[in-house]
Amino acid sequence: MDRIKHRIPAFPKNGKNSVHSVNSVKIKRLVSGLLSWFSRNARDLPWRRTRDPYAIWVSEIMLQQTQVKTVLPYWERWMQQLPTIQSLAKARPEKIHKLWEGLGYYTRVRNLQRAAQLICEQHGGIFPDLFDEVLALPGVGRYTAGAICSIAFDQPTPILDGNVIRVLTRIFGIAGNPRDKKTNAHLWQLAEALVLQASRPASRTNAPHSALRTSHFNQSLMELGALVCTPREPKCTDCPVKKLCVAFRQNRMEQLPNLGDRPVATRRHFRAFIVERRGEFLVRQRPAGVVNAHLWEFPNEEISARTVPLPVHSRLLCTVKHSITRYRITLEAFMADEATAKSCVNGDGRWLALSELQKLFFPSAHKKILASLAGTR
Ligand code: SF4
Repeated sequence: MDRIKHRIPAFPKNGKNSVHSVNSVKIKRLVSGLLSWFSRNARDLPWRRTRDPYAIWVSEIMLQQTQVKTVLPYWERWMQQLPTIQSLAKARPEKIHKLWEGLGYYTRVRNLQRAAQLICEQHGGIFPDLFDEVLALPGVGRYTAGAICSIAFDQPTPILDGNVIRVLTRIFGIAGNPRDKKTNAHLWQLAEALVLQASRPASRTNAPHSALRTSHFNQSLMELGALVCTPREPKCTDCPVKKLCVAFRQNRMEQLPNLGDRPVATRRHFRAFIVERRGEFLVRQRPAGVVNAHLWEFPNEEISARTVPLPVHSRLLCTVKHSITRYRITLEAFMADEATAKSCVNGDGRWLALSELQKLFFPSAHKKILASLAGTR
């Protein structure tokens, strides 16, 4: 415990929003109620059966922007093929990208490998257990460092992600926008006050005895947000802390958290071209420094006012719709001629057979085109 060095600001002594103004009895009852509920309701997830910080770190990075049910097979496959920090540090980029294919936000996987290499160089291949050293790893922010230190090392480091923000703003009736600096700092203080309370011996909180109390407490916040205190139609009647919840008492569940106006969704329209020449198809690799860098794709272009109409013999293969952040994207894939496709490839295209394409890593939308193409053979 004394080895933990926090970059977390100390509680303000006199602030109106200070956690000191929060009833400490409420903090104790919340911790006790959530620990007790978690001991009976926690989902049996594979990364919860281990204390290996590497395995927990991989799960936390995969779970960013991605649902548990999607992550499960990816995590299992990853841990089978890259079971240690050393194996990840040494893995070929093609291998890690292939293992990540379909999860999206590929910067995450490149940061994972850079961090593994750094751990080998600077920490002798042992995952660091100091909060500041974990936070210094590429791709690790304050939430992820807090999650790893609490879950793997049972340290009282707070966590605050979308799920936890929803739970805390509702329970404490916090009306400010969590993205505002002051409200955000207040939420971190609450998260810290709660996890510090959880780190105290069970006899002083009346909670069930458990080692790993901070680990379990932080996970109970995440779990409540995922299973009970959901964004829409929270299951308040089943909630273990409803008696302590301001939003429930005041029927303000729909108004909290107050995330302000959502950014307006922007529609974008792309055309991809599938060209076959003697049983091979034209693909290209995206350059470094752009979205989905290094991944493969079929030649494509964004439709604009200046886009030339397709030749009449081009045939629609499939339409893929997907969303990335605020963009609602429609991608139409056409069987096209070589001249059409080559206008989108600056001499860096490659011709490959279908069996070779299956070994490359594509963004999800182009992977769907590939599956559609394979279905026509
Ligand atoms: Fe969320 Fe409802 Fe529980 Fe309050 S009572 S924490 S709004 S599920």
